[in-house]
Amino acid sequence: CMRKYGGKSLRTEYCHELAVRLLTGCLAKTAAKYGIGIKIVFSHSTDHYVRVYAETERSAKKANETVRKMGYILHCFKCFHRETIQEPFLIGHSEKCVECGSKVNVAGPLWLGEIFDEDFCKLMMEEIEKRSFRLKDRIRKILNLARLEAKAPITYYVIDKMCDTLSLRTPPLKKVFEALKEMGFQAIPTHFNSRGVRTDAPAMVVQKILKQINS
Ligand SMILES: [Zn+2]
Repeated sequence: CMRKYGGKSLRTEYCHELAVRLLTGCLAKTAAKYGIGIKIVFSHSTDHYVRVYAETERSAKKANETVRKMGYILHCFKCFHRETIQEPFLIGHSEKCVECGSKVNVAGPLWLGEIFDEDFCKLMMEEIEKRSFRLKDRIRKILNLARLEAKAPITYYVIDKMCDTLSLRTPPLKKVFEALKEMGFQAIPTHFNSRGVRTDAPAMVVQKILKQINS
């Protein structure tokens, strides 16, 4: 659902994150060519725009580290499974989804490194408290979410989209978060989508939870 930045996108429910990772990938490759390494401190994306805020450092070592954070995301449209492959080229990977056996689709090459920096978000939150402006509450909320998802798993599940595909009623998001945590998985919201959840749980587990809440 986004413009392309030298890599292939997919019409997944986390396309806003893909847009950020594709744009960052493009930036990383270009910077590395000139011996510059990058670190993403904040990113944002809506249906209308993609924005990435980066710190740069001229250093061959940092440039190499930057390039090593490139890779691919494999996505299964059948069961919602997704996985990352942190390799410069996609050679010899299985085209079959490890969870359901369907054919997976590939997004990339793109950036698999962090797309938010916890400390930067904290600093920004302190800064906005010193000022008064119209969108303060909204920006505070976005920064707080971004801070929490800085170290969270790559990509998120959009509960409404999954329920729609599985013909299930949409449960309260709180219940999904609770169920995931009870099973020992991470459950972290995302500022990209108010109905999204970042988790290390396999897609089949998320499906199972949604079915259980529905029954
Ligand atoms: Zn699958």
